[in-house]
Amino acid sequence: MGLTGRAQKELFERMWSDTASLESGNLRVADRQHVPIIKRLGSTPLPTEYGGFTYVVFGDLTNGQFHTMMIYGDASRIKKKERLLLRVHSACGTSELFHATNCECREELEEALKRISKAKSGIVIYLNQEGAGNGITAKTKAYSNAFEWKNGKIVERKKKDGSDVSVYDAYKKLGYPQENRSFAAAAAMLKEFGIRKVRLMTNNPKKVEGLKQYGIDVQPYGIHIKPKNNTMKRHLEAKAKLLGHSIKSKDLE
Ligand SMILES: [Zn+2]
Repeated sequence: MGLTGRAQKELFERMWSDTASLESGNLRVADRQHVPIIKRLGSTPLPTEYGGFTYVVFGDLTNGQFHTMMIYGDASRIKKKERLLLRVHSACGTSELFHATNCECREELEEALKRISKAKSGIVIYLNQEGAGNGITAKTKAYSNAFEWKNGKIVERKKKDGSDVSVYDAYKKLGYPQENRSFAAAAAMLKEFGIRKVRLMTNNPKKVEGLKQYGIDVQPYGIHIKPKNNTMKRHLEAKAKLLGHSIKSKDLE
């Protein structure tokens, strides 16, 4: 049956549009009304460099995106009563797939998987919400406000006072929220497996609150990445200054 060509095109264009994030207010209302917001679509054992995981794929009923979950070991043997080690990670394709050097996302994801592998227990939830939740189209706009080509080299754009434009400055200037992610889907994915108590690897107090508001008992566990270059260092400084992440200057040395 499917959608007609025109309806399909309109749906896709809405999903891809950089204003899709402005509709996220609706999804937050939906969360509070206890309507299902995710659907489990499939799962499989998955051998990885970090050990054997159960890989679970979910569909997000609020926006049509896929989210995935990596559970260390056999998911049917999860110890639900224990406080589980958890990373809730938002997708960053530029860093994770293409090894962009301006942010620490890839290193942070690897560090989380290493810690889980060492503990032989834990979960990574990978949420498809790029660009601080504003989407991948908005991300290209923000990045192009922060970086430019000059004589064949990429340089950081400067503000009037001579300081660098951070990606978060760029989101603000373009009219996007600096933090527009929702952790409702992550909480629902945990509940799907009966998990209510976690030790969350994050420096972001909003992520802790974002899970707590959906009934997850969260204990934060810092995860600090040493910056590989000055751009990454300034990105982490901007996260501390503009978004309130608990990153101290000693964490950046
Ligand atoms: Zn990133």
